[in-house]
Amino acid sequence: MKIAMIGSGYVGLVSGACLADFGHEVTCVDKAVDKIEALKRGEIPIFEPGLDQLVATNVKAGRLSFTTDLAGPVGEADVVFIAVGTPSRRGDGHADLSYVYGCAREIAAAVKGFTVVVTKSTVPVGTGDEVERIIRDTNPAADVVVVSNPEFLREGAAIGDFKRPDRIVIGIEDERAREPMTEVYRPLYLNQAPLLFTARRTSELIKYAGNAFLAMKITFINEMADLCERVGADVQDVARGIGLDGRIGSKFLHAGPGYGGSCFPKDTLALVKTAQDHDSPVRLIETTVAINDQRKRAMARKVVTAVGGDVRGKTIAILGLTFKPNTDDMREAPSLSIIQALQDAGATIRGYDPEGMEAAKGLLDNVTYTKDAYDCATGADALVIVTEWDAFRALDFPRLKTVMTAPVVVDLRNVYKAADVTRHGFAYASVGRGGLD
Ligand code: NAD
Repeated sequence: MKIAMIGSGYVGLVSGACLADFGHEVTCVDKAVDKIEALKRGEIPIFEPGLDQLVATNVKAGRLSFTTDLAGPVGEADVVFIAVGTPSRRGDGHADLSYVYGCAREIAAAVKGFTVVVTKSTVPVGTGDEVERIIRDTNPAADVVVVSNPEFLREGAAIGDFKRPDRIVIGIEDERAREPMTEVYRPLYLNQAPLLFTARRTSELIKYAGNAFLAMKITFINEMADLCERVGADVQDVARGIGLDGRIGSKFLHAGPGYGGSCFPKDTLALVKTAQDHDSPVRLIETTVAINDQRKRAMARKVVTAVGGDVRGKTIAILGLTFKPNTDDMREAPSLSIIQALQDAGATIRGYDPEGMEAAKGLLDNVTYTKDAYDCATGADALVIVTEWDAFRALDFPRLKTVMTAPVVVDLRNVYKAADVTRHGFAYASVGRGGLD
């Protein structure tokens, strides 16, 4: 099949490369000239494990190409995917759909023959109806069906997630979309990945309901962690103890500094807004959003406590800046709020991240970026693990002790057992392990 992928970011580029790998002929389109020029030179503009190899193989095989020109590939495509950003709208938290709608107008003007237009971007309920209306208004002659096909991949594991998904959700209003959408995903279908066909609005809501549930699960265990600290219990054992119950499940029960990233914060907020607009508030999610917002700065207070109650004039080393390991994505990373709160309290910040420092530079002021964990810790009054990159899982504590001003470790991801750290003469604080740190 001929596929045009509009938007070549984390989702569009991974989806485009994987669909090319399935044997389709894919053109990835983006308005960002630098991104497309880089891709044409064989450079991958984001960090995602395995993506460089996958792109190179499929470009070489002639199945994957890149362009800033939307009209050409859309005119030739059987299926056009919209994978542009849907960030929070400034001011009110609704999803900003201007990129999706802009793209719909451009697609409308360029389609030729019967074309399936698929929204892969995360969009609020009813967006498919609006995309369809825009296309019909712009080009009444367009022979188009509009489909919802939300993406569930996780950054850092995106290729595996795309190729081996738990399910593929496809929301259709017109039966003519069923066959081409089945064809797009045929290789996965053969691998037994369930294709779940639903109505379009249902499909749009599935994406938000899924993300909101996961955000709520993380927030639940984070609150349990706080309670564990008060009552002398261990949140990791609590998580194991409840997670073994098949009705609960063990995933997304890791206590930490609060969820971040390019999806959960904006999607929970957008769901709250949609629900309020329809006079059907989702109070569990409203509360989840509020708890998570407060939690990030609360983590800074944990650091302040660990260094004796005042960070003014002290140096804090931050290990891990991205919102999770194996990505360079800094969007809504907990590190941003934690660092800001520590700076507000008078701390000097040194930071290190294996992949995120370039992106961090645009978002954080007055941070000294360093070359590795030991350089970062040099002269620090505390070392704070904010993101659990593998590189921080086996730190040489005797070496750290020689370079730090004070031996204090704050482990916001519970990477270590307390004894692993304290036996080297460090003070150690973590999350939800009451009386055990
Ligand atoms: P991104 O910001 O990395 O990429 C979006 C790209 O779209 C940018 O490169 C931008 O230049 C391009 N773009 C915008 N308007 C365009 C236009 N009119 N024509 C061509 N290109 C245009 O965003 P992302 O992280 O890939 O997310 C895309 C969508 O997928 C969002 O709705 C997001 O919620 C959803 N999603 C993201 C993830 C994730 O892990 N990142 C996972 C699932 C779903």
